[in-house]
Amino acid sequence: GTLSIASILAETAGRFPERTALYFMGQPTTYGDLWDQTRAYAGALAARGIGPGSRVAMIVPNVPDFARVYYATLALGAVVIPVHLLFRSDEIEFVLKDAGADVVVVAAPMLAEAAPAAARAGVPLVTVLMPEAAARQLDVARLEDEAAAATPIERHVGTNPLAAATILYTSGTTGTPKGAVGSHLAMVEQVHCSLIDSFDLRPDDVVYGGLPFFHSFGQMAVLNMAFRRAASIILLPKFDPDEALELLVAHDATVFTAVPTNFAGMVEAARRSAARPPLRYAVSGGAALPVALLEAFEEAYGAQVHEGYGLTETSPSCTFNVTSEPIRPGTVGRSMWGVDVAVAVAEVEDRVELLPAPAPGGTSELGEIVVRGHNLMKGYLGRPDASAAAVVDGWFRTGDLGTVDADGIVTIVDRKKDMIIRNGYNVYPTEVEAVLARYPGVAMAAVFGVPDEVRGQEVHAAVVPSYGADVDPDAVVAYMKEHVAAYKYPRVVHVSADLPLGPSGKVLKRELTARHSAPAV
Ligand code: ATP
Repeated sequence: GTLSIASILAETAGRFPERTALYFMGQPTTYGDLWDQTRAYAGALAARGIGPGSRVAMIVPNVPDFARVYYATLALGAVVIPVHLLFRSDEIEFVLKDAGADVVVVAAPMLAEAAPAAARAGVPLVTVLMPEAAARQLDVARLEDEAAAATPIERHVGTNPLAAATILYTSGTTGTPKGAVGSHLAMVEQVHCSLIDSFDLRPDDVVYGGLPFFHSFGQMAVLNMAFRRAASIILLPKFDPDEALELLVAHDATVFTAVPTNFAGMVEAARRSAARPPLRYAVSGGAALPVALLEAFEEAYGAQVHEGYGLTETSPSCTFNVTSEPIRPGTVGRSMWGVDVAVAVAEVEDRVELLPAPAPGGTSELGEIVVRGHNLMKGYLGRPDASAAAVVDGWFRTGDLGTVDADGIVTIVDRKKDMIIRNGYNVYPTEVEAVLARYPGVAMAAVFGVPDEVRGQEVHAAVVPSYGADVDPDAVVAYMKEHVAAYKYPRVVHVSADLPLGPSGKVLKRELTARHSAPAV
């Protein structure tokens, strides 16, 4: 074999050994040092018998060790399984067993959840970031010690391009986690073709690194992409808007890549602090970005937001408002280099029936977004049925509803599963949220369905007030009634201090629905 996504770090380190790869707690790590440390970790893993095709699970937040363990595994030709940081013991056990992990690398703070899971799954565990005394007391191995004793690998091994590189469990905002298997080819294509062609990233850029790297978005659009361009990443293990703003300012950050709830947080942080980083632009993805929020961020930070769209199963980015063209607010831009994006009839289940192309100047009908290209996952691990249902005639069915216009600009309307049916009318929460985001004093809003005996579902909204603002729920209902059609305005508005967020910062609609449904009697 010849290909490896680990070449990204190896080659950048070879060319720019003195450049800063990572900033963590004020400390820089150069590419040269990071690659040396990675080769040492790889030596330690190799001494544990890890090699081509082995499976290495890791439970590590956004600290330098994430990069070391991740690239060390890939450099050996082994498969890396970065586990969700909020997973509890049972969920970790499920992933370790489902993925058939040969070893799990656990950062000290995650040990309490991970250790019992690893024991139950019968998977050897090795720690990082664990103080020596604590390791002795708990009788756990330290990868740092093993690396000091092992011989570092010389270079990364090339593999078959279609060999598995990662197994990423979809976060389960919609159900049981499934392991999407990504190949080296899919990742190489995503970074070297699609991302590099879509946003202008330069070696002197300093990129915000608060998007979790265990998730496809942060892993590809931040970690791998920044390393590809020899840019620097500011690591932030846990998103806090005020801390993020401070870090962005301290390191003169030039690029901010995040999910919409992070953008909302940054707009709020800007109300409390006058300091601003020298951002060149920002990138949003992972969920719909309300136009009002895009505008508020641009206003506060003087940086344009470029929205893209993608999924874990597509490595992830599929469409993008590229940085070389004017943005189209409210859309996710056009398909990226190497990715085919089309709209199919949503109701057809067993095959993909593409909708007719839009007439010149027109827009397609609403349908399901389908995606084709080298960026597609190999399938869901051990789930042939789910895989066959997801990829039909080479097209991946995203489960998202949207349109494409004659210029190829894609608009995501909503997830099929999030659509609310009230009195027989379809309500798309994203559209209602975009209007809610314009209400003065609203920092974040989520619209969701709640079971209703009479109407099937009722439209509810959860609203987080802006810093120092008071929001009257009745006034919000009245405002929405004035601005959207009668069948879709939220009848009930819940004001709360925050929204339930998944580990990647996305709003958990299922949890909102559960929280506000009448208890079963
Ligand atoms: P699941 O558990 O169902 O896989 P998830 O949110 O964990 O959900 P991801 O792969 O992280 O899965 O997210 C992919 C989904 O995020 C897309 O299917 C789409 O619904 C949503 N999404 C991503 N980008 C955008 C965007 N720009 N606008 C609207 N929705 C988006």
